[in-house]
Amino acid sequence: MQKRFSNEKKIPHSLEAAIASDYEKNLQMNNEDQMSAYSLVEDPKERLLKMRHHDINVLESHNLINAFLGSAIHIAMDKSNSKFNAVSDKHLHCYVHGSNINAHLKYYFRECLEEYICETVESYKSNIFQILDWSKKLNCLCYIARRSGYNINKILLNIILLDWDESRVGEDGYPLSRVVSRNISIMDFLEQEGYVFERIRLHRRYAHLEDDKIPDCEAEQRWPDVIKYCVCRNSLQRPAKVCDTMEEADQYIFTNRLKNVTIDIKTEKDLKCMKYCECKKQCDFWITKYN
Ligand code: SF4
Repeated sequence: MQKRFSNEKKIPHSLEAAIASDYEKNLQMNNEDQMSAYSLVEDPKERLLKMRHHDINVLESHNLINAFLGSAIHIAMDKSNSKFNAVSDKHLHCYVHGSNINAHLKYYFRECLEEYICETVESYKSNIFQILDWSKKLNCLCYIARRSGYNINKILLNIILLDWDESRVGEDGYPLSRVVSRNISIMDFLEQEGYVFERIRLHRRYAHLEDDKIPDCEAEQRWPDVIKYCVCRNSLQRPAKVCDTMEEADQYIFTNRLKNVTIDIKTEKDLKCMKYCECKKQCDFWITKYN
């Protein structure tokens, strides 16, 4: 059965159809018989609930635009690739510990593996948890690529900042360019293999349990205690600015010569469960704690 999508924000139908097709393609890489290198990093509860209930949950197409743009960049790079002799858009798979693990090698050139993602400046600045996940995901991908014969000694995560604004360069912590490249620390082959084996064992251990018997995702994977500093003109309105540090909030008030504002400190707990987990409605942890 196919995944269902909603379009409450009324994005053009052509874009909605392309987003759905891209999402389905990625979903096919992760089912009962196979796992994707990236899904190994997910907690078993999240991966299994997503897989078991993917035809029940309805996803809003608008929320998938950033992921879709990341895929679109790789497709465009694949088309322009012939000049560089890079390897791009290549699907790999191998058997590890009896499991079929697949991986999508998006771009590889001169022993460097690259991934492009699209983010807003705010989430780039605050999403340390996502960066940690990317480090693990890219090392799993690197392991499958190495097993498939690619020499890799560098991994780059390139982040395209969709709302980057040149006039804000110079503000505390504001990125200097629309594209930020993060060098991901690369594990040696045996370390990667140990991590991949451990993740496969973990996913297999819970694969036959009922939904509510699978242990909750680890606290770190739920993105706990993210503290934000909100510059507010009025407690009833949306904050004028949401900052990651008190210094950044002070600087914003100073630079913009704001008067009569307050800085409200907001703690967001289990941010992933609250905002980003597509299977939360099937998760007993979320139902008990937040529903
Ligand atoms: S709601 Fe939270 S605990 Fe439940 S599967 Fe999603 S991320 Fe894990």
